[in-house]
Amino acid sequence: MKTGYSIRTWRMRLVCPEPIWLDRTEEYFQNVVEFYYHLLRQHEELWNSSLFDIQRSLELLSLAGRDGRQPTNPLPMGKVPVYLRRAAINKASATVKSTQELQSGFPEKLEAKVTFFKGMYSDLTDRSICLKLWNGEKWIWTDCNLKGRSFPQDGQLMSPTLVKEGRCYLLNIPVKQENSDARTAKERMAEGTNLCSVRFTNTDTFAVCCILDEQGKQLAVHTCRGGDAYRHRCKLLETRIQKSRPNTVGDNSPQPNRKYYMHLKNLSEHYAHQVSREILNFCKENQAGIIVLPNYDQNFTRMAMVKSGNFSPLHLSSKIRTNLQYKAWAEGILVLETRTDGLKDKCAICGGKVRRKGNEFLCENGHQGNRFLNDARNLGRKCQDSFFRGSRTK
Ligand SMILES: [Zn+2]
Repeated sequence: MKTGYSIRTWRMRLVCPEPIWLDRTEEYFQNVVEFYYHLLRQHEELWNSSLFDIQRSLELLSLAGRDGRQPTNPLPMGKVPVYLRRAAINKASATVKSTQELQSGFPEKLEAKVTFFKGMYSDLTDRSICLKLWNGEKWIWTDCNLKGRSFPQDGQLMSPTLVKEGRCYLLNIPVKQENSDARTAKERMAEGTNLCSVRFTNTDTFAVCCILDEQGKQLAVHTCRGGDAYRHRCKLLETRIQKSRPNTVGDNSPQPNRKYYMHLKNLSEHYAHQVSREILNFCKENQAGIIVLPNYDQNFTRMAMVKSGNFSPLHLSSKIRTNLQYKAWAEGILVLETRTDGLKDKCAICGGKVRRKGNEFLCENGHQGNRFLNDARNLGRKCQDSFFRGSRTK
């Protein structure tokens, strides 16, 4: 079977016993980048060479040879760790090359974030990492803690990059995951696959999911609940923000109530992860190779989002979708979208016209049941039909 891979970035909070060393390491790296940037700008004859050739040439200019040859442009900071030096040279070369391509002027200053390549870090886990840091005089291996979501078990961790956000330090760590199935939707449909269609709602149910086999027969149904609890917990936080407002109006704090807003944000993220995980587990249990999400037109989406409120189960669906996209990919499941026009007016059992009665539907031929499930079934079938147009009888 065809396979592929994806790379996602994990953002981890970095807790360092000597935060000042992080600043010094960054500054040190910045100096090395600038040194090579200026050196390369003086050597126009190198600009069209490959990155590899530029690297070799710049090293010849700046480092002493084994045979005792003295460099014309020695590094002012003395001996620089090899991978840090190469990262700096790459950054400088990439900037010069892109300046040429865009035919823009050379920027005076370069913003260079430190990436810890091989030799600059070790013992990377979910909880800790050992970084080689510059304390202003020498390099010191420093044990730091990490806070954040754990890495996927089969993920391959790549070189972390240091990022400063406000007063916090973060490590961005790319995680590479093999994907067991890189077939296209068309190939999957042709070979036959179960499909999971999803209908998001603004009730206690975040999503109704329905598994259809390749003939369009319903095999299983699952509802992701917790919408009311989510709404309630958000409401409590919003009330707290309201109540504390009179007390914070006079504050000079740039972002009063930040704590509560962060809570709200975390709450949304937590639920979005949980629901997307639940949908995905349901897909795996039922061997679904494709997930179908409703694709509403933009006006409808905007209206529905405004009507449902900022912290409602339906509003969360956009976050759930995003999470599903990348989680599904890592599991080898494809996510498709299908237009929903006309789907809610049709009975999924007989195709007859339906009336809506609260959360139920009532068909002209007597069928009735949950209208969200009816929508989900219709959505799945419509998606299947779009692949087998004309070749399947109903
Ligand atoms: Zn019917």
